[in-house]
Amino acid sequence: MSITRTLLASDLDGTLIPLERTPERLREVAELVAAMRGEPALGLAYVTGRHLSLARAGIAEVGLPTPDWFVCDVGTSVYRRRNGTFEVDERYRQAMKAAFGGLKGVQIQSAIGAMAGIELQEEEKQAEFKVSYYTNGRPDGFLGNVRSRLDRAGATVNLVASYDPVSKRGLLDLLPSGVAKDHAVRYLHDHAGIDEDQLVYAGDSGNDRAAMLAGYRVIVVGNADAALKADLADQSAARGITDRMYFAEHPYARGVLEGLHHFGFLS
Ligand SMILES: [Mg+2]
Repeated sequence: MSITRTLLASDLDGTLIPLERTPERLREVAELVAAMRGEPALGLAYVTGRHLSLARAGIAEVGLPTPDWFVCDVGTSVYRRRNGTFEVDERYRQAMKAAFGGLKGVQIQSAIGAMAGIELQEEEKQAEFKVSYYTNGRPDGFLGNVRSRLDRAGATVNLVASYDPVSKRGLLDLLPSGVAKDHAVRYLHDHAGIDEDQLVYAGDSGNDRAAMLAGYRVIVVGNADAALKADLADQSAARGITDRMYFAEHPYARGVLEGLHHFGFLS
């Protein structure tokens, strides 16, 4: 196993994977990949809402390298690379099972039932410990109603909302209580055995928010939602961690490269 002294934990869609697949954007990915290749001590974890198979397809599509870890399904599954393949981290899986309180995804779906303006995402977007919906427009207006239906069913679920400005749809993930991307990043940090300030997290949207306020170094890519940027600026000031949060000027992979240089993770 290689010695990891620093770790880049990064979101994929809208962060390392550009939302527009133009030649320029793909060239920026290639530049980042080339820069990281020169840093063997920099470990890599992708932290995504995607399933493992869709995450692997996504990185192959834009030429991103094979990581040391995949955190998939919005932090509800962790896979580690071993002998050229990815194995599910069974210890993490057992922890998710416990946090879901014995509730199954289908029971959560029936507790919510039919609601105008929200619909279940495609089957391949659902996971063992995650139920996912689309919302018409921003998800904020639906949260109260969803939460009250879940409360009535006695479900203890963590609601994670994001907004996709390209499709103009909201993404609403229902995860085990207390679990989101930050939970998995904490788990990686504990396992990788690196200092907290040697871990940098990069992201662009609402489902990255908790991981961005967990105390690690943070790269907010330039294309991140303006409301999220304002919120992160306020929150990081309130917590005294502004020096750990870098707002990149550039979007996507170029913004991540900019941030890695800013924190001295690349020589
Ligand atoms: Mg994203």
